[in-house]
Amino acid sequence: MDDLLEEIAQEIRRCRKCDLWRSRTNAVPGEGPADAAIMFIGEGPGAAEDKQGRPFVGPAGQLLNSLLLQAGLRRPEVFITNIVKCRPPQNREPRPDEVRACREYLDGQIAAINPRIICLLGRPATQTLLDPTASISKIHGQPVERDGILYVPLYHPAAALHRESLQPVLVEDMARLKSMLRERLG
Ligand code: SF4
Repeated sequence: MDDLLEEIAQEIRRCRKCDLWRSRTNAVPGEGPADAAIMFIGEGPGAAEDKQGRPFVGPAGQLLNSLLLQAGLRRPEVFITNIVKCRPPQNREPRPDEVRACREYLDGQIAAINPRIICLLGRPATQTLLDPTASISKIHGQPVERDGILYVPLYHPAAALHRESLQPVLVEDMARLKSMLRERLG
């Protein structure tokens, strides 16, 4: 990570801007190269992530790793983070005030990385960055271009672990993402 991303990560680790700091073991700023062409943004850290201070290292992370391979990507070449950087208790959805409090870190990361494509994992990330009324079941896999960035909403891998019927849908969306990458990045 470059200096700016590391500075943001340090701020996140010290942050007490919302109550989620009280129950965290570790904040999870995110990880990946500073010049990543693609970012993946999820909802928030879970138990394994909170323990290790790293994003997507639990079961959903393992599924994400295999989905990345299906899209022709390797994990070390993408930047992975969440809309909130501290684990919500019992893995509940982050509250709007928590998402708002954490937003400047996410915006700072996006500005520093300047990705060509942002994959939004699940409804909270999609509603935060794309459309507050979006329904992920309606818009998954459909790219939206905004300010020079291609946003691609996808089901969250954790949802696909809970509902197996979503796994083939995610696989299909990753295949579509692979062609978008070819078109966009060459
Ligand atoms: S979730 Fe974000 S805003 Fe809340 S304490 Fe953690 S880093 Fe700060």
